Amino acid sequence: MKQLTCVVAMMAVLGASGCAQDGSFDSNKAMAVGMGVAQAVTLNEESVKQTASLAAKEMDSKNQVAGASNPYSRRLENITAGLDNYRGLSFDFKVYLAPEVNAFAMADGTVRVYSGLLDAMPDDQVLAVIGHEIGHVYHKHSYEQMQQKILTDSAMQAAVSVGGTVGELTQGQLGQLAYVAVNARFSQQDELESDTFAVKMLKNLGQDPYAMKRAIQTLESKYGSDSSFLSSHPSNKERIKRIQKAIDQL
Ligand SMILES: [Zn+2]
Repeated sequence: MKQLTCVVAMMAVLGASGCAQDGSFDSNKAMAVGMGVAQAVTLNEESVKQTASLAAKEMDSKNQVAGASNPYSRRLENITAGLDNYRGLSFDFKVYLAPEVNAFAMADGTVRVYSGLLDAMPDDQVLAVIGHEIGHVYHKHSYEQMQQKILTDSAMQAAVSVGGTVGELTQGQLGQLAYVAVNARFSQQDELESDTFAVKMLKNLGQDPYAMKRAIQTLESKYGSDSSFLSSHPSNKERIKRIQKAIDQL
């Protein structure tokens, strides 16, 4: 099975990410990163966003992006109406014509939705998934993830100048960064935070917040037959429970 979006993956690998999830300082990781630790302070958010834009461009060049008049694009445009600027952030939504049930967001506000996801869900559930994805941007999970990838890759570190700007990254490196975004692994806490963001967003947009819950159930029912996948996400019930709690608190 193709690797699925973090929306799906979070069911699979809750808490399994190697990221420093709680903001605590990991001295072992710091030693492993070496110089990256010092640079982490200076690799600012704007630099990471610029890198994300370049990685998105690289990713777009490797995928079949649906044209503006494509029915998938028109549908996504309808679904995301009013979201180009949301809570102070700008987003750029496009469809990849590919069967994967997938969607991802990057720190610069790039959001890509695969046509496979659009085929798998009704509009309200797609919107919920998008809300979840932009929750990762709003809460800076995407930024932190890309920053960490840059600073834990010695070749990419070398491309980062002391001044905190991102220098020349190769197409291959940008592709690696895009891969990290597409195959995002976030902590359980980050995933639940993004679920809550999506629930609130749906409410703010006058949509049914239960669509977030239904989206998870759709993914689970579609991929439940994959036994190894199913066995790897025992915390799915907890996630549904937390979504319900977020709805109750609206
Ligand atoms: Zn996620």
